[in-house]
Amino acid sequence: MVQPTQRQLFLSHVAQTSNAPLMLNMARAEGAYIYDTDGKQHLDLISGISVSNIGHCHPKVVEAVQQQAANFMYLMVNGEFIHSPQVQFATAIAEAMPAPLDNVYFVNSGAEATDGAMKLAKRYTGRSEIVYFNKSYHGSTHAALSIMGDEYFKNAYRPLLPDTRALDYGVMDQLDQITERTAAVFMETVQGEAGVVAPSKYYIQALRARCTEVGALLILDEIQVGFGRTGTMFAFEQYGVVPDVVLLAKALGGGMPIGAFVASAEVMGVFKDQPVLGHINTFGGHPVCCAAGLAGMKVLQEGSYINDVKAKETLFHELLVHPSIIELRSKGLLMALELESFEFNKKVIDTCIENGVITDWFLFSSNCLRIAPPLIITEEQIRFACKVILQALDEHTA
Ligand code: PLP
Repeated sequence: MVQPTQRQLFLSHVAQTSNAPLMLNMARAEGAYIYDTDGKQHLDLISGISVSNIGHCHPKVVEAVQQQAANFMYLMVNGEFIHSPQVQFATAIAEAMPAPLDNVYFVNSGAEATDGAMKLAKRYTGRSEIVYFNKSYHGSTHAALSIMGDEYFKNAYRPLLPDTRALDYGVMDQLDQITERTAAVFMETVQGEAGVVAPSKYYIQALRARCTEVGALLILDEIQVGFGRTGTMFAFEQYGVVPDVVLLAKALGGGMPIGAFVASAEVMGVFKDQPVLGHINTFGGHPVCCAAGLAGMKVLQEGSYINDVKAKETLFHELLVHPSIIELRSKGLLMALELESFEFNKKVIDTCIENGVITDWFLFSSNCLRIAPPLIITEEQIRFACKVILQALDEHTA
């Protein structure tokens, strides 16, 4: 009997979420490269959507995972036993955050961090309205979907959570719609899926002031932009504001699945009673994920990767010059190369992938090509990536 191929088994048994999956059959990954089952080398220009900030299989992370897996993996639901990987990782995160953000609730993903923080804001303020922004993405679970700023993606799942209000990102004269009814404002410090849109310092500071004035929590989503991607450990550091809650995931685990929301002990304290166990999670703060995350964080803190982000961003800007490029928007190594249409972008993306450079588009900005490489990317790799992109643009420009 002819055995089905891995490709056929993938299509038959792994849930599909589009009719056009990339279908690259991958075998291993190291540094900025992923290798397919034919041994072809692919330069990863998207880091699994901002996950692999320190590259794939960093030896320090691999070592931490192996050691922790051999010691113990899972012990007990989150928040009961004391174990060193979790305590050390929470302490390291607290030390990297400004006061009073020193209390970490670990979950498994970004959407779970969003969901937990929504509950936290409701409990802490006793209010229910959640404000969010058009073209924002905070995850795909029901609660996170309720504050997704895109009707196309959310409409089919209504009814969603009530009492949510969408504002336009960066529009000053809408800030008065944040009121004493508002429990929290959720905002991506830099909007990712909108195609890399960064707010002005002036706007974020005004938003911070408005939230403080009306007693609403300012919740900054650093899930895509945290852990060095924009040139500082957290993007909000560049805006001179301290949020009330920070959402983390993606690069947080050094390649392992973990998310977190970080607040002050006072805010987080509301989960302790009425009801007790205000937020429950089985796997959150998994020892192996915490060990991996801590190792990955140390790599970022001890190396020069974050400092080097600016120079690498500049190099991309110098190299990516082409008449078909409408704009290259960037905040550190999160970049959107704006092209005329999705159709054109898709052809360029496919050609890049054929030629060994993995890229894709943005959820709410499908005419933009995503460039978000591991921060460890070298100058030579950047030159190669840009050459492949420019060749693809040449090939498809009429
Ligand atoms: N928030 C932002 C800004 C994201 O980019 C994402 C994922 O792309 C999420 C939240 C959701 O994270 P997850 O896919 O881990 O649920």
